[in-house]
Amino acid sequence: MLVQERILDSRNIKRQKDAKYIVSYGGGVNSTALIVFLLKNKFPLDYVVFSDTGDEMPETYEYLEVMERYLKRRGIAFEIVMNRKKVALSDKCISREVIPSQVWRWCTRDFKVTPIHAFYRKLESHIYQYMGIDYGEVHRMKPAREDYVTNLYPLIDYKINRDECINLIKKARLPIPVKSGCYFCPYNNMDRWAEIHENHPDLFKRSMKIEEHNKHFETQRLAPKGYSLREIDKMMKKKKKLPMVEVDSPCGSECMI
Ligand code: SF4
Repeated sequence: MLVQERILDSRNIKRQKDAKYIVSYGGGVNSTALIVFLLKNKFPLDYVVFSDTGDEMPETYEYLEVMERYLKRRGIAFEIVMNRKKVALSDKCISREVIPSQVWRWCTRDFKVTPIHAFYRKLESHIYQYMGIDYGEVHRMKPAREDYVTNLYPLIDYKINRDECINLIKKARLPIPVKSGCYFCPYNNMDRWAEIHENHPDLFKRSMKIEEHNKHFETQRLAPKGYSLREIDKMMKKKKKLPMVEVDSPCGSECMI
């Protein structure tokens, strides 16, 4: 059997018999632009797969319906997968008294990567996995971890940056998706927390519960750098400007990488 590369330049792609071509979809700008780009340029594409953590933003769930219709019209299968027990990440956090950790990305592994790979294995084919990483994020390119998967990064190979991604989506007459990812992601920066506080107070409240229920609350928090969500809540209610703090690594739509 031919040994497949674990990463390949998408400019050299030709459909292989018995292989499947799949977008690992995150629900955000880059992976949406990736789908538009692939269809526009007639790349082989069999499936678009999204792993639902059970705690995506409400706008993302609405957007998934938009994409489902868009893909259906073009004859592409859209699969939404979940972890085997169909448990939401927030429920697991509360029952285990833990929060997602930036150091050990167990949430990404259990709620994004594992469900997607379970789906891939069922196809019993080599998988060409398109990843929605744009030209400004070259450092995030990685070979696939599994030998039955080859990673492809068309947005990088064709030098498509974030602004061009937005243009691709607009030209396809699709709405621009919101930043995707779990609402209580520890990679949220202050602006994102402010936005959730403002637009989704119920989700902010639940995030506070997850953070405070965590058995390592004193040292591990969802809010950035030493702040707690309760402090952010108080600042927001008093209409105080939130401090600017750097967040090490933005996460969201492509959190499975
Ligand atoms: S979006 Fe954040 S919380 Fe959700 S799975 Fe990814 S890293 Fe974890």
